[in-house]
Amino acid sequence: MPETPAENIRLRSALDALPAYVPGKPAADDGVRRFKVSSNESPFEPLPQVIEAVNRATLHANLYPDMGALDLREAIAAHHSTPRSAVGPENIALSTGSVAVSGDLVRALVDPGDEVVFAWRSFEAYPILVRSHGGVDVQVPLTPAFEHDLPAMAEAITERTRLVILCTPNNPTGPALTTAQIEDFLARVPDHVVVALDEAYREFVDPVRLADTARLFAEHGNVVLLRTFSKMQGIAGLRVGYAVAHPRLAAALGQVTVPFGASSIAQAAALATFDPDAAAELEHRAAWIREQRGRLEQVLAAQGWELPASQGNFVYFPLGERSAEFAAFADARGLVVRAYGTDGVRVTVGEREANDLLLAIAQEWREAQE
Ligand code: PMP
Repeated sequence: MPETPAENIRLRSALDALPAYVPGKPAADDGVRRFKVSSNESPFEPLPQVIEAVNRATLHANLYPDMGALDLREAIAAHHSTPRSAVGPENIALSTGSVAVSGDLVRALVDPGDEVVFAWRSFEAYPILVRSHGGVDVQVPLTPAFEHDLPAMAEAITERTRLVILCTPNNPTGPALTTAQIEDFLARVPDHVVVALDEAYREFVDPVRLADTARLFAEHGNVVLLRTFSKMQGIAGLRVGYAVAHPRLAAALGQVTVPFGASSIAQAAALATFDPDAAAELEHRAAWIREQRGRLEQVLAAQGWELPASQGNFVYFPLGERSAEFAAFADARGLVVRAYGTDGVRVTVGEREANDLLLAIAQEWREAQE
């Protein structure tokens, strides 16, 4: 029997133009003890409440999850409700990580040839999601301070624009947008264009600098908040994220999303993070990360580094052409970091030992340049 040759399968031509998503590589197994600080993961083990919820949910893994994820959507909605604006489960759309929800947004909004505007460099999944769904990505360069260039982004909106993504704090460079900045931008966006605020790292923003995105959401029907349980809640491996959107858009996201996307185990784990003791411990952990980031920034500045002010659980070294060299230098000394082409290197705030090692490596690198 002749085999059917796979060479004849007609793949979409769009695939040729897709950049690869380069995940933080696992530490090499060459005997050197390494810290993996390349994927903005939590350095903390899952909470006992999460582990217990996962174990319990596993007992029913023969059954499909609640497709509507009502318990979890109610808990998320309660978390987002403020005295001035109620959020209900009809505002929440869930999927397997906020990256999947971002893909759902593209599928719900973008016809072939429609445009999606975002800053660059930013989260590397954006161009992949847009192009793979037939959209056109419009990348607006960051300012020299590695911040969103909002006037240029507003200028980039055309008749074909359906979605703008603002990543705040911006991965991988770190700066966060203020309420006023976002508000001024929204005033320049036609109301049929959706503005997604990707707040994957929101809990790491210094509390005094937090943008009032709850109010912006309440006041603007075209604003969507994208959130994840991967970072501050520390369950990246379980894959659950969501959008807070106006009911019409949340329902549209529900129409295009993969059925049963968020597993019963992921739903149970995410729900467990709202337990009051668990939530308090997570807030404590986020505060620790913020403190460590401050320590890193202070010492690195004293070493002579000029880094963008980060509000995420990471710091960014704008090393340009020398990014890959720095990443190899760090790897050889036990730190697995993420280089972005010839732009820069992002390093996650990790456990104390990893942070100390970063400071030693950064110092050694500078001394080697002198
Ligand atoms: N948005 C940003 C800005 C991110 O950096 C990430 C993860 N690296 C995500 C979304 C996706 O998170 P999730 O694990 O929920 O898919």
